[in-house]
Amino acid sequence: MSSHLNILSGERNGQNFPTRDALQELWQEVAQKPLWAPPNFWRYLKLRWRMKTKQLNPHKIKMHAPGGKMNHCQSCTNNCCVGPESTVLLRLYDIATLMDLDKTELISQQKPGFDADVLNQRPAMQKHLASKAWEIFPVLEKNSFGACAALTTDGACSLYPHWPLSCARFPYALNVEASYIFYSRRCDSFWIRSDVQENIQAMRLAAVACYNERIKDAVLLEYAPKKLAELGLLSYLNLEG
Ligand code: SF4
Ligand code: SF4
Repeated sequence: MSSHLNILSGERNGQNFPTRDALQELWQEVAQKPLWAPPNFWRYLKLRWRMKTKQLNPHKIKMHAPGGKMNHCQSCTNNCCVGPESTVLLRLYDIATLMDLDKTELISQQKPGFDADVLNQRPAMQKHLASKAWEIFPVLEKNSFGACAALTTDGACSLYPHWPLSCARFPYALNVEASYIFYSRRCDSFWIRSDVQENIQAMRLAAVACYNERIKDAVLLEYAPKKLAELGLLSYLNLEG
């Protein structure tokens, strides 16, 4: 099974990430002055009409999961990297990372179909599929068996530790409206142990970081499209709509 235990994807292991670093510099440049500051007031209103632009503070988000609940991938028979529900929507950060790793063949705009009965029971998934982000951003390529193309034949993640942000926080997920983090029902192989608090806290940070990255992406697309294009990131997005 791919291990979701070491959850932060920021470790470099001697690898250079020029595109990812440039994206981060661009964000710092855009974020250093208020989004509403002239001449961007109308741009800001347009963005605010679509979404919240305030990043979340992970320390103000509640946890709705039993203390010590942690996935146990080594004993899992239900690999969460297989099937349409496991489709990983990529953020600009993820695309930049894949560019830097020279693995852009894993970036795809081919999105799977979903069973209507499944969707009827999954309102959060329905909302996700109806979102602008699902329309615009690419996903990780699937193989002919419906598994993530980054999954190796022995069940490991070939991208780890530079895996996408969504993988880094799974099976913890954020309910944005209700402002809490919960443990996904899709992961049913876990322990409840008292010695995993540090890992769970890292999961909390990763779940919120994943959401905050969505806000960063929306702001950058609105405020710095030319620079994103220069970095080569826009060619992976579906901006036709
Ligand atoms: S379903 Fe849970 S235990 Fe199984 S591979 Fe995924 S995260 Fe690990
Ligand atoms: S990148 Fe693919 S193989 Fe790796 S954890 Fe994510 S879904 Fe699984």
